[in-house]
Amino acid sequence: MVYKRIFPFFLIIFFSACIEQGEFSRTEFALGTVCTVTLYEQGKNSLYNDIFSRIREIENLMSLNISSSDISRINSNAGIKPVSVHENTFKVIERAVYFAQLSGGAFDPAIGPIVSLWGISGDNPRCPSQEEIDKILPLVNWRNIELDANANSVFLTQHGMSLDLGAIAKGYAADAAAEILKNAGIKRGLVDLGGNIIVIGEKKDKSPWRVGIQNPYGNRRDFFGIVHTDEKTIVTSGIYERNFEEDGRFFHHLFSPFDGYPADNGLISVTVIMDISMEADALSTAAFVLGYEKGLFLIESIPGVEAIFVFNDRSVQVTKGVEFTITDNTFFFR
Ligand code: ADP
Ligand code: MG
Repeated sequence: MVYKRIFPFFLIIFFSACIEQGEFSRTEFALGTVCTVTLYEQGKNSLYNDIFSRIREIENLMSLNISSSDISRINSNAGIKPVSVHENTFKVIERAVYFAQLSGGAFDPAIGPIVSLWGISGDNPRCPSQEEIDKILPLVNWRNIELDANANSVFLTQHGMSLDLGAIAKGYAADAAAEILKNAGIKRGLVDLGGNIIVIGEKKDKSPWRVGIQNPYGNRRDFFGIVHTDEKTIVTSGIYERNFEEDGRFFHHLFSPFDGYPADNGLISVTVIMDISMEADALSTAAFVLGYEKGLFLIESIPGVEAIFVFNDRSVQVTKGVEFTITDNTFFFR
């Protein structure tokens, strides 16, 4: 009963807010997630078409689920031969390897065998046996990715290795979408590729953007706090994205390449705020896997990067440059 009364009221607020801002946005499913682009005031269909075809182009190059993608071709040639790829793919893999090194291997684009063993992206995820994990864990090693910048080629030196760009490709696509939008002279816009958010330009009244941060325990779009920011990317890695329970134990999709299990260190999400979405994507995953202390050390070692760490007791820690308000009072600052 309460639900019925609240619902129409909520809708009215939402639509009047849209009309006031002249907002128009497009949402499509791509890169395995919900992608929304909003061009405040200047939303032209042709521009949305350009942005979404660029996102599809990136998906066709980097998706594991497309057999002709660069990533699938690299993986099926693991231990066999180097594969020449599109310069976009090469760039993302090169940066992924850079962040693997920078994070001491916590972020590892060669995580593929562990992700498939847990079946985390399919319909039947399961907790594998220790033996199964021990057997394939040595295949997860970014040092065995050979890059040749002259040929734009990538070689996985061990048979059975596989790349998974799930933790970085959405960020790259978000940067690409934002670039198209800026080149078209758009003054205000928002790109949201499954939680990889970029705000572009400034609001009409010059007040800071207010970006809701996903409640790791809530449903999608259920936020627990708001970041106040100027033009930046805001990227969150959390346990809410893909998870399952088995025998009363909770498992999620952010794996530690060191032991082959979902990272279990008291964190439930890490949000990174900076200028480049691809880097924020890699860093949010890296910091999550590293855990609070090492993750914070990594974040603070890079100029211009801020972060919000959320723990399983609902406490929150932010770096010095973040302006963050908690709106759900079951969460609290440490
Ligand atoms: P989201 O899926 O919410 O965007 P991330 O950007 O953190 O979250 O990416 C998670 C995905 O990255 C996983 O689904 C998996 O494909 C891959 N992944 C999991 N653990 C790692 C890791 N340690 N290093 C690199 N990629 C990882
Ligand atoms: Mg990521």
